[in-house]
Formats: sequence, structure tokens, C-alpha cells
Amino acid sequence: MRVAIVGAGIVGASIARELSRYELEVHLVEREADVGWGVSKANTGLIHAGYDDDPDRFPNRAKLCVQGNRIWHRWVEELDIPHAWSGALVIAKEESEIKMLGELLRRGERNGVPELRLLERDETISMEPNLRRVEAALYAPTVGQISPPQAVIALVENAVDNGVRVHLETEVRGVEVSGERVKGLKTNEGFLEADVVINAAGLHADEVSRMAGIDYFEIRPRKGEYLIFDEDTGPKPSRVLFPTPSERSKGVVVTTEVQGHLMVGPNAQDLPKEEKKDRSTTPQGLREVYEKASEMWPLPPLSRVIRTFSGLRPEPTGGDFVIRAEDVWGFVNVAGMRSPGLTAAPAVAKEVVRILEGMGINLREKAGWKARRKGIHNGARGRVICRCNLVRESEIREAIGRMKRVGVKTPSVDSVKFRTSATTGTCQGSFCRIEIARILAEEFSVPLWDVTLKGRGSELGVGDVKVLLRR
Ligand SMILES: Cc1cc2nc3c(=O)[nH]c(=O)nc-3n(C[C@H](O)[C@H](O)[C@H](O)COP(=O)(O)OP(=O)(O)OC[C@H]3O[C@@H](n4cnc5c(N)ncnc54)[C@H](O)[C@@H]3O)c2cc1C
Repeated sequence: MRVAIVGAGIVGASIARELSRYELEVHLVEREADVGWGVSKANTGLIHAGYDDDPDRFPNRAKLCVQGNRIWHRWVEELDIPHAWSGALVIAKEESEIKMLGELLRRGERNGVPELRLLERDETISMEPNLRRVEAALYAPTVGQISPPQAVIALVENAVDNGVRVHLETEVRGVEVSGERVKGLKTNEGFLEADVVINAAGLHADEVSRMAGIDYFEIRPRKGEYLIFDEDTGPKPSRVLFPTPSERSKGVVVTTEVQGHLMVGPNAQDLPKEEKKDRSTTPQGLREVYEKASEMWPLPPLSRVIRTFSGLRPEPTGGDFVIRAEDVWGFVNVAGMRSPGLTAAPAVAKEVVRILEGMGINLREKAGWKARRKGIHNGARGRVICRCNLVRESEIREAIGRMKRVGVKTPSVDSVKFRTSATTGTCQGSFCRIEIARILAEEFSVPLWDVTLKGRGSELGVGDVKVLLRR
């Protein structure tokens, strides 16, 4: 049985890893030059507890978030994914917000979230003395943080180790259906036969679904912007801090992300449905994020920001995740994976296994399936390339070896960045980008100017300018 998964984000990668346990031929198809470059690249990276989602309105979100949180506790260990189980506080900054905390507590208990507890003002302040205004808080100790691109890489490396084949720079342009059965995928790299197609195409899952003639939902982008401060600035909270949430979003979060930087964001701005590529940040948006976060926490000045970025939430019609086997036999939608999609991803993957079994597919476990994968660890010796994060040449060469093992064909600085954290420190790559590019050029046997920042179209140069001088 051949299964093709469209999309190597956190959802597709989790499904690929989960299906790699069984006697199946699994193909992971991704149009970008590397895995994890879609929605999964730019988000808050939180493993939510599961008290946000109303189980009557959003049953998939409510159920899969809590289950996913539990599974991540195991997966980060098995796959050596950098993480922090810091816990979270939802802050009521005035009396009128305390009622909402009670609602979140009841909802969380109904969803099965463990260890939730309401805190009074003094206890909250003893946990986070720098909070600006606080009347009470909801404490959720099971909340954690991961680096989402690193999580995707870990899952894909482990999936490949267990036999999954990855097709990068392969864009799905059509789904072949005959006699109400899926036959395969039409791509820029030719036809890929498949008995089952799992659509995990993130923001574009509605388009891929339409390719199979299934057209009952739409995905709209909702932008969120962020600010990251320099490592030596603070104060930094020990826990993830949420404001009391609104209907549309969980609000602007203040957190110390896994690499130790103070990070604030996101805001929430609905974009027209065709603007699925708009990853720009705006002065107004960033100002809004800064001001909202400042209501809760004393922030360093804006001059200490080292990076801004934005991500697009794939908001589905109806608001809940769309996870189901469709009437076209073999076509499974795993769409509308807005927040808490990162948290839910492992549970979604297990749900997909149940769906395949429900379709009558006999899933036999493979002998010798490997649960574990090791990350790249800092060597103590060798030439330092990224001075801010102390990343050495040996780690960069190892990252490149791993890129090649998962099928990366185009050398990109971003591929190294997400595997090693090089270029993400104070200087944001000013010193080391060119060194990394030189190593990439050597390892891929290409001229330096053919190395890209993030895939085709972002080449570092156009050619050897010395040719012009020689004329
Ligand atoms: C601002 C923001 C904050 C968030 N914060 C959190 C959080 O803290 N916690 C949490 O749990 N969730 C959070 N989320 C949600 C989470 O990021 C998403 O649910 C998750 O990343 C979605 O993963 P995915 O695999 O479905 O999509 P993606 O990562 O986008 O993967 C889909 C892949 O499909 C590929 N693709 C698309 N079309 C095609 C095609 N035709 N052919 C081949 N490949 C194709 C894309 O290139 C992409 O790589 C947040 C989201 C945003 C935007």
C-alpha cells in the first residue's frame, strides 16, 4: 500500500513518522526546498495545555490539543527536540477578567487538562515578580515550548530512518481520481502513484482538496507578528504569560523562548484569502504587539529588538480542524490546522492511523522500528563559525550531511540555521552567513553564488564578478 502525504510541516511530518511504524510505502511530498518552511516555521512554539477550546464548538481542537500535549512529553525525549516545560500563567489584570479565568478552568477540566489551578494575586506575584498588573491567574503547569522547525526536522529524520521517502521541491498540481478512488498525485516532478493521499498542505489544504473535487471548506490567512529581543535583555519571565484571551485569539504572549530570548507576540490580523504568502511585518502591527505586551510586562526598549517576523494561521471555515476520510476513497483531509495545530500534531497523526484502519486498511507493525533520533550537539572543539551561539564548523557539516539524508537538493543558509541555530544570535548572521555559505558551496560542490538563503530565487549572487574585471 502506497501512501502520499502532501506537506512536510509539523502535521505531515508527524503523520509520516507515525505511519513509518507500519508495513506501508510512505512518501512525503513538499514543494519547498526543505521541510518545515510553511506555517510551522513561524509561530509561538507553545505546547498548549488545552483549556482554550470549547469542546461543543471545536471538538477536534479541544480533544486533540490535550492528547497532543501528553504525547509531546514523550516525543521530545525520543527525538531529542529542544524544549522547556515551563508552565503558563493566564493573567487577569483587573477584577472583571477573573470570571473568564474561572471559565477557562472549567473548560480545561472538562477537556481533561491536568493540574490546572487558580492563583490569587500574591501567589502569582511570587511566581513572576515583574508582572505589571495582576489580580489573579490561571496556572497551567503542563504548558511547554519547543522550536517548531527543529521538531519538524527531528520527525522527518526519524521517519526517513524508518523508511519514509521525502520529495522536496515537488509541488502537487493535481490529484488523479478515477472511479471515486484516488490514483495518485500530479507534480512538477511527474506522476506519483498512490492508493492513499493525505492532504496536510497547511494554508493551501483547501486548494489541494479542490484538486480532488472536494470543496466544502476554505482556508483564510490570519497574520500574527512577533518581536524577539537580544539575549542579554530582560527581565525574562520563567513561565509563558498569556493575557486573558478574546474570542479571536489567545492574545499577545510574553515568553522566554527555548533559545533564551525574550519574545512577544502574536497579534491577529485577518488577511484576504488570496494573501497566503504575505509574511511581512508592519510598523503598526509591531507597535500593537509591543504595547499589548507592555501592559503585562516591562519590556526593553524597541532598540534592543534583534528580529521581527510574522506567521499566517490557516483559519478554516467553521474554525475546527478538518480531519476526515472523504467520499473519494483514499483521500484524507487533515486541514485547517490553525492553533493549537502544533500541539495537536502528534494526536492528529494517531487519529490518521485510526482513519486508515476505519477505511479497512490492514496496518501491520514493522519489525525493528526505531523510536529514537539524536539531535546535533555542540562539540567542545573546532572552529567556531557562529560566534553568537557558538556553533562550530563540525556541527554545520553534520547539519549539511543530515540535510542531504532527508533529500535537500538546494543548499540554503536557512536549512543550516534551523538545524544548528547559527545566524539567530545578536548579529543575526552578519559575521557567519558568508562562512556558512562557503561550507555549503563546498559540501554541495556548487559555486558560492548558487548557495541560497531560503531556496530557489534567493541565491546569494548572480555569478563571478571577477569575470567582469578580467575583461
Ligand atoms: C502566528 C501563529 C502562532 C501559532 N502559535 C501556535 C502555538 O503556540 N501552539 C500551537 O499549538 N500552534 C500554534 N500555531 C499553529 C501551528 O503553527 C499550525 O497549526 C501548524 O504549524 C500547522 O502545520 P501544518 O503542517 O498543517 O502546516 P505547514 O507547516 O504550513 O505545512 C504544510 C506544508 O505543505 C506544503 N504545501 C502546500 N501546498 C503544497 C503543494 N501544492 N504541494 C506540495 N507541498 C505543498 C507547504 O509548503 C508546507 O510546508 C500558530 C500559528 C501561527 C501562524
